Amino acid sequence: MTITVLTLFPDMIRAIARESILGRALKAGLFRLEVVDIRDFSGNRYGKVDDALFGGGTGMLMMCQPVYDAHQKALQDGPSPARTIYLSPKGAPLTQGKVEALSGESHLVLLCGHYEGIDQRVLDAVADEEISIGDYVLTGGELAAMVVVDAVARRIPGVLPDAAAYENESHADGLLEHPQYTRPSEWMGRSVPPVLLSGHHARIVEWKRRMSLVETLRKRPDLLASASLSEDDLLALEEEIRMGGSSPK
Ligand code: SAM
Repeated sequence: MTITVLTLFPDMIRAIARESILGRALKAGLFRLEVVDIRDFSGNRYGKVDDALFGGGTGMLMMCQPVYDAHQKALQDGPSPARTIYLSPKGAPLTQGKVEALSGESHLVLLCGHYEGIDQRVLDAVADEEISIGDYVLTGGELAAMVVVDAVARRIPGVLPDAAAYENESHADGLLEHPQYTRPSEWMGRSVPPVLLSGHHARIVEWKRRMSLVETLRKRPDLLASASLSEDDLLALEEEIRMGGSSPK
C-alpha cells in the first residue's frame, strides 16, 4: 500500500512517521509513505499558495492550482486507482470500520488543509470523500492525516508483531477492551484481579468478556446499541445495570 500526504508542512508528517511502530514498518517496506509539498507547486517565486476570501471573512484560503498540481503529481507517482481523502472538520467521523475499509486500498492520497482551509472548487475536483477526526477544529490537517496513517498502517499485515493484538481491541467488535494489567501483581495496595493470575483459561475468557461489557456500559453506553451481543452478554449487562455497574475492576 502507498499513502501519499499532500501538505504545506512536510516535516510535520516526517517527524511522526520516523518514530516507533510506523518508523519500523516504513523501514521494513511494509507500506510506502510519500509526502508532497504543495508549496512546490505554487507556480510563483514567493511560494505563495493562499489568498484572501472572496465575499470577505478573516484568514487565508489555499488556492486551487497548487493543490490540483500537487494532487496530479501524487496520482502520477503512486499506484492506481487512488482514493483521495480531504481531512476536514466537516467530514464523516473516522471510525474503526472506516479504517478497515481504507486499509484495503492500494493508494490513499491524504489532502491536508491549513489556515481557513481549501478553495471548494479544487476539493470538488479531487476529493473522493472528507474525513474528520472529531468535532473540533485543528490548525491544519497534518495531525488528522497522521491519525489516519497510524490507524490504517496497524491494519497492514506485519506492522504489528502479532495480528491477534487487534482482534480483541476496543472497537474491534463494537465494544471497548477489558482493563489490562502487568507486573507487579500488587502496586500501591492495588491488586490485579485474582482471576487473571489463576491460570484458568475459560474463566479468564469469561472475565474479559464481562469486563469488556462493563467498560463499554460505563464509558461508551452508546456503542452497545450497535454491538453484536449474545444472550449471555445481554444477561450480563442486565445484571450489571441492576448492580449499578459496580463489578470489581
Ligand atoms: N474553516 C474551516 C471550517 O470551519 O470548516 C476550518 C479550517 S481548519 C482551521 C484548517 C484545516 O485543518 C482544514 O482545512 C482541515 O484540513 C484541518 N482540520 C481541522 N479540523 C479537523 C478535523 N476535526 N478533522 C480533520 N481535519 C481537520
